[in-house]
Amino acid sequence: MICIQNKSDCYGCSACYSICPSRCIIMAKDDEGFLYPIVDQNTCINCKRCEMVCPSLNQFSPTTPLKVYAAKNKDIQIRRESSSGGIFTLLADHIIEKHNGVVFGAGIDSNNMIRHLSVEDKDKIHLLRGSKYAQSDMGDSYQEVKAYLNQGRYVLFTGTPCQVAGLKAFLQRSYKTLLCVDVVCHGSPSCDVLKYYLAGLEKEFGSRATGINFRDKKTGWKDYYFSISFENKKKYLCQKDKSAYMRGFIGNLYLRPSCYNCKVKNLKSGSDITLGDYWGVSSRFPEFDDDTGVSLVIVNTAKGYEYFNKLKDSMDIRESEITHAIKTNPYIARSAGLHRNRDLFFKRYRDESFDTLVDELLKKGNLEKLYLYIREAFLKILVFGWSIVKKLRNQMAK
Ligand SMILES: Cc1cc2nc3c(=O)[nH]c(=O)nc-3n(C[C@H](O)[C@H](O)[C@H](O)COP(=O)(O)OP(=O)(O)OC[C@H]3O[C@@H](n4cnc5c(N)ncnc54)[C@H](O)[C@@H]3O)c2cc1C
Repeated sequence: MICIQNKSDCYGCSACYSICPSRCIIMAKDDEGFLYPIVDQNTCINCKRCEMVCPSLNQFSPTTPLKVYAAKNKDIQIRRESSSGGIFTLLADHIIEKHNGVVFGAGIDSNNMIRHLSVEDKDKIHLLRGSKYAQSDMGDSYQEVKAYLNQGRYVLFTGTPCQVAGLKAFLQRSYKTLLCVDVVCHGSPSCDVLKYYLAGLEKEFGSRATGINFRDKKTGWKDYYFSISFENKKKYLCQKDKSAYMRGFIGNLYLRPSCYNCKVKNLKSGSDITLGDYWGVSSRFPEFDDDTGVSLVIVNTAKGYEYFNKLKDSMDIRESEITHAIKTNPYIARSAGLHRNRDLFFKRYRDESFDTLVDELLKKGNLEKLYLYIREAFLKILVFGWSIVKKLRNQMAK
């Protein structure tokens, strides 16, 4: 029976809940708002299927990418509405249009909770478009995916690496008609953190939040905004570096415990394609970056390559290498570092002003500032030293 001793060993993917034949597992929120399995020991038949499908207990080996691209959806409007280069929408359109398939991904419900949902209609793909920076609740999506696949339907399943790894483990076999796409993942806050943050703003604006855009490209892709629309038609717009929610997220203050030691990232989820932001694009293909968004597309399997090739005409692409992608986007390969004030945040966030708390907890101590200063100076000296060595080597070669 699944038994979580250490919270950092559970991704909350719900594979165990979904496989349980006696329905004795529920996914319940802890104090931090993250979902964990709870087993009813009276009805558990000890079949151990929950352990067999846990992506934390059963890890995939890493894939070596077949191809790596910087890519842009040619439709500039879709690109503007997407977080990166709009490649997700192309894949989703294709599965629905060409295969009469079903697309699973993360959407926002009417209570501003992030949930996985399915879409079979092209006009509804916008519900899944865009990154939502909180962990989505999988609900019964894994069972629904399986049911569609068993009917012979095509399915595109998208999510974080742990959600894809959970689905693959749950299915226990491969399906020709399943395409799995994961996103490069920094880590996920809980929906409760988002809820408390929104509650503060709702009070300030005197109205209910009805729309959240975590990646508003009002002034471009790189310097994006966090925006919220309210029922009373007012709008909150805040640069990502100034928004308390985004600063706490990027500063690793309130991610799920497993995100600090993620064993399924670094191309270990079993996905066919991995999508992210190609943040380093301007150092490699400066002419390609028009600041409307460039996706990083990592093609992991032959199936992924087949789909990518079918969609090539609808994209602008540049071929790259995984080493360059990782150099400029480290969260492809490594987990976020645990913030020293994470526990303090979760002790206090329900009772205090969100912005003031985040400001206080992200403030660096004097020792930390000194360490960062010395580290930066040391790195500069290293880079300078290396450039001199290279120059001397070149001169000697001449
Ligand atoms: C929590 C999170 C952290 C991320 N961290 C990074 C990062 O550090 N570096 C990086 O390069 N990229 C990161 N991304 C991915 C990036 O933001 C884009 O989602 C990705 O590049 C796809 O962009 P797109 O333009 O092709 O499609 P978009 O339309 O922008 O993306 C939609 C896709 O994202 C999925 N999605 C959105 N929110 C969630 C969610 N909460 N949980 C699961 N899936 C979700 C949808 O299911 C859909 O497949 C992160 C995404 C999320 C959700």
